[in-house]
Amino acid sequence: MENIAKHIKVTGLVQGVGFRPFIYRQASRMGLKGWVRNHTGGVEIHIEGTEDSCKKFMDVLVSNAPEASAITGLEDTSVPVKMFSAFEIKPSLNGTERITNISPDIAVCPGCLKDIKKQPRRLNYPFTNCTHCGPRFSIVRDIPYDRQNTSMKLFEMCPECRKEYENITDRRFHAQPVSCMHCGPQYQWTTKDNKESCFSRILQNLSSALSQGKIIAIKGTGGFHLICDAKNEASVRRLRKIKQRQSKPFAVMFRNLNTLKDYARVNSSQELLLRSWRRPIVILDSIYPPSEEVNRGFTTLGAILPYTPFHYLLMENIHTPAIVFSSANLKAQPLISDNKTALKLLESSSCDAVVSHDRAIQNKQDDSIIMEKAGTPVIVRRARGFVPEPVSLDIPVEGILAMGADLKNAFCTGKDYRAIMSQYIGDLEDFDVFMHFQTTINNFKKLFRVTPHSIAIDTHPQYHSSRYGKKLAREHPHAGLIPVQHHHAHIASVLAEHGLDENVIGIAMDGTGFGDDGKIWGSEFLICDLQHYQRLYHLAYIPLQGGEKAIRQPWRTAVAAMHQALGEEYLNLPLLFHQYVDISKQRMLIKALNQRLNIHESCGMGRLFDVVAALVNLVHIADFDGEGPVKLENIHTHDTEAYHLPFYNGEYRYEPLIRSVVKDLLDHFAPEIISGRFHNAVVEMICDGAERTAAKSGLKKVALSGGIFQNRIITEKVQARLSRKGFSVYMNHKVPCNDGGIALGQLAITGKKTKNICV
Ligand code: ZN
Ligand code: ZN
Ligand code: FE
Repeated sequence: MENIAKHIKVTGLVQGVGFRPFIYRQASRMGLKGWVRNHTGGVEIHIEGTEDSCKKFMDVLVSNAPEASAITGLEDTSVPVKMFSAFEIKPSLNGTERITNISPDIAVCPGCLKDIKKQPRRLNYPFTNCTHCGPRFSIVRDIPYDRQNTSMKLFEMCPECRKEYENITDRRFHAQPVSCMHCGPQYQWTTKDNKESCFSRILQNLSSALSQGKIIAIKGTGGFHLICDAKNEASVRRLRKIKQRQSKPFAVMFRNLNTLKDYARVNSSQELLLRSWRRPIVILDSIYPPSEEVNRGFTTLGAILPYTPFHYLLMENIHTPAIVFSSANLKAQPLISDNKTALKLLESSSCDAVVSHDRAIQNKQDDSIIMEKAGTPVIVRRARGFVPEPVSLDIPVEGILAMGADLKNAFCTGKDYRAIMSQYIGDLEDFDVFMHFQTTINNFKKLFRVTPHSIAIDTHPQYHSSRYGKKLAREHPHAGLIPVQHHHAHIASVLAEHGLDENVIGIAMDGTGFGDDGKIWGSEFLICDLQHYQRLYHLAYIPLQGGEKAIRQPWRTAVAAMHQALGEEYLNLPLLFHQYVDISKQRMLIKALNQRLNIHESCGMGRLFDVVAALVNLVHIADFDGEGPVKLENIHTHDTEAYHLPFYNGEYRYEPLIRSVVKDLLDHFAPEIISGRFHNAVVEMICDGAERTAAKSGLKKVALSGGIFQNRIITEKVQARLSRKGFSVYMNHKVPCNDGGIALGQLAITGKKTKNICV
């Protein structure tokens, strides 16, 4: 039979995941000749053989692809036979016009875990990896993904590693970060008066230090972590002090799944998430915490399993089954990823020892956080294990840079029909985080070959991200600036994920976003598509005195709301609230409210949560963004009654709800019940708004987004009720519904608006 030849182009997540070796092995096995190479647009393959084997090859290519790969495009064309005599892996071509996808970092695989137990060169070697696992994005400096473009460039392979790297039948064939104890990176232990580089002694030191209650900074894949024995109350309390973190729960790394199950409930889909190659922190229902200090009264527990050989070796060698596993950053600081800064933690006594290594982190990233809602995974923080995997879109977005928002910032770059979200950056009002934001944008521009023709920004005039976007637009003289309203962007992020480009009912329940009327929005019922939006209904505005201060101090919002609902009379009521918040302080605030001094009006749903959280005395001054909503959800008990948010003149009025809450407080109802009734009220309001919007527009598709939809109770109830009423409900799954996902919406809106410029 005559031979034929095919040229195949594969796009998607196909570099750095063992794709070329996989192709090589399949082709060789089938007796095909030709070549495979990485290209900045993906992977290119030339095969020659019988028509049958070529067809079989195409099938296997899709069905047997490596676990961490994701093929998004596959094209094959018939080409003339060139009579190759073998199949080979060719060096990468450095194309410029298209880029390929860099793989996210992958948790250590079972094969490598076996190797560190029995392969002499890798016994207890903490950097063991192969084509199926190991660091990727975190070590990449440039594309294509080859060793000389990574942090591994400095480490020359020893003859044995090279043999593995070059041997097609080896699991480490073309694994870019391949190394062993003779040639690869090494860990180092540093305390104020001691250094140690023998790894087994480092493990011993770690074990005794943790037993003694010490706090240690350890370098991992995407950055440093601060760890301590999660069962040691005093250590965890000290860590809280160091991080100036009063009540936000800490993530905990458990020795293994079985141990974890003693502390938290795990269903089968949560188990899959915990064990997946992305290895995120998974938010679970706590059975009991390793110590009270870990989650300070929260009923949830953020759990993670070991994901590098180092973590496995660490967890095997220490007495405690659970360690606090917290990103090494101090308050208002970005994650620490370089050894020099980590050693400063030692100087300032923010930790007792630093365990660093000499493999540089090029792209620092926190651990990702996932929770399960209505049976599906929902991303709360998107970073290691997810970034830079793109989100495929139905519209071209090449050359668009979307800056995101200021809180929980993540930005987004467009590459033909793909959106590449940055890792979670943090809150840009902190200067060092803002610097990290700028550095990361520059890294992305280089890594993904982005020359922006359009820059999308939030309409908020004070956002650092917006100002920086304007600056970039000036630097790229042909770049257009596209301002995008915050809540339109939230809804557009859902549309983009689901490939929807039509009018939908958009419901954005959120904390804070700049509105078109100059007020703060955050409870929007919209009719919108990717280009236009019309705002129909929202919550009535609550006057916030003192701007940002009011958001950080929910007692202020509570006073304003009670004052609106009950007048100054409320000061005479026997409320427990008055024991927490000085009456004189309240009077002063009321005076400022009456004089309308420095008032910002907000209809953000987050503020109403704040009010109720303050009224039941959960949070008067917030320690972290969203503390009110999170704590209110945490104490929620199911109740059949609901407060009422009556609809009047386009607004949902909160005053009757406040009066009912106050009445229940005076009647000594438990905060848990009040929270339950409040949740029911919010659910009813959302469903009522959806129905009103549907009645007006005839639309039946509802997109839900905004930080409030991180609330599991609200989301599950709203989804169930709207589905029962015949609505199709769409939510965020690939990006967070909080401001960490907003850049995707900005990008999609800009893509649509500038369609003719994107190629
Ligand atoms: Zn491996
Ligand atoms: Zn070696
Ligand atoms: Fe928002």
